[in-house]
Amino acid sequence: MELLQKKIVEEGIALSETVLKVDRFLNHQIDPQLMSEIGKEFATRYQDEKVTKIVTLESSGIAPAVMTGLVMGVPVVFARKKKSLTLTEGLITSSVYSYTKQETTDISMSNKFVDQTDRVLVIDDFLANGQAALALIDLIDKAGAEVAGIGIVIEKAFQDGGMLLREKGYRVDSLARIASLNNQTIQFATEEETIR
Ligand code: 5GP
Repeated sequence: MELLQKKIVEEGIALSETVLKVDRFLNHQIDPQLMSEIGKEFATRYQDEKVTKIVTLESSGIAPAVMTGLVMGVPVVFARKKKSLTLTEGLITSSVYSYTKQETTDISMSNKFVDQTDRVLVIDDFLANGQAALALIDLIDKAGAEVAGIGIVIEKAFQDGGMLLREKGYRVDSLARIASLNNQTIQFATEEETIR
């Protein structure tokens, strides 16, 4: 997606060869216009997939997920990273291991909002090693629903997540794929290119 790539080049900051900071439009401050375009793009790509629900992870997945839900006309459920006082019944949980933080976080979702009648589009801000996406897929499996695909705003194609998910047979759509991050030079990969 050209608009997104332009935004990454203009406002993204490569903190190292592996970490990209995009808090000017996605991870802290949010650009609603860009999120709206992202929503339209995911909705167009998944229009024939009979999606009934979108599942994302708080907090940075929520903006692109809500914009997609708005265009597709389906509800958006976000998995929580912290236990909620009011969310106690029918709680489904899974664990996410973060290679960057080297810690495991539990994520949870109520089975009230996703069930065996659902075909779910997973949306997240970043795809790195794929652990967050796999945990969301695990929640959806436990709810008895089907995964229609995984929509990612920024895939770091030099890390293992994309390969892992595609090898498992999931459809993965990434709107920007980064091939490498070097001294502030951000190289992009095409959708077809295999970096790993
Ligand atoms: P994964 O589970 O695929 O390894 O990592 C995905 C999660 O880690 C994303 O939801 C995102 O929050 C965070 N993440 C991974 N790499 C980056 C990065 O380079 N920049 C930012 N801002 N977040 C990242």
